[in-house]
Amino acid sequence: MGKERCRCCGMEDQKRDHVFVELADGSMICGECAGRVRILYPKSFTWVNVYYSGDTDDDYASDEDTRWIDPLSDISFEAFQTALKRADEERIARKSRYGESKAYFNVDEISRVIKYPGKGRKVATDEYVVTGTVLLGTVDSTGVISVARKEKTFTKDIKRVETPHANSSVMENAAFISEGCCGGLILDGDAPYIYPGDILAID
Ligand SMILES: [Zn+2]
Repeated sequence: MGKERCRCCGMEDQKRDHVFVELADGSMICGECAGRVRILYPKSFTWVNVYYSGDTDDDYASDEDTRWIDPLSDISFEAFQTALKRADEERIARKSRYGESKAYFNVDEISRVIKYPGKGRKVATDEYVVTGTVLLGTVDSTGVISVARKEKTFTKDIKRVETPHANSSVMENAAFISEGCCGGLILDGDAPYIYPGDILAID
């Protein structure tokens, strides 16, 4: 693939360390411009079971692969331009719905971080990961989560954040999780007051 130029902002691909997105009409959009409409067009992934047969000793061995679905690949540049405006409106609507925190995060699940040091060993760490999607704003390791319950409001520092690798669901450390994107918030110790479906306020 040659040098691409973002049809939205004119930047060339060398200038930014972001993956370009190809729209339905072939227009190339830089990651930063695409990020401005992720609030309306979040990327998602689906699990695909891959079965091996004949290549391995175990014919029934299977593995899970990830396929990313990017709804931006289904829209034209004209629709993208409209989406930029609609995204601003959606941002304002979400602010009035959720509140004035810097970011909001929708929880899919919370689980303990397990490490696999090799030789089939499995070690439970003291870390917990909250996976989900950023509904509004950007989330990084300086964030503090707050969850309001009837009895009190609980707070917890974010230790670091992870995002899925572009070509798989393997999570890796990241500087931040962008608006409309999925990822994991790593916490030191458990947070029994966080449940799937919660919308976390993050400041
Ligand atoms: Zn751009």
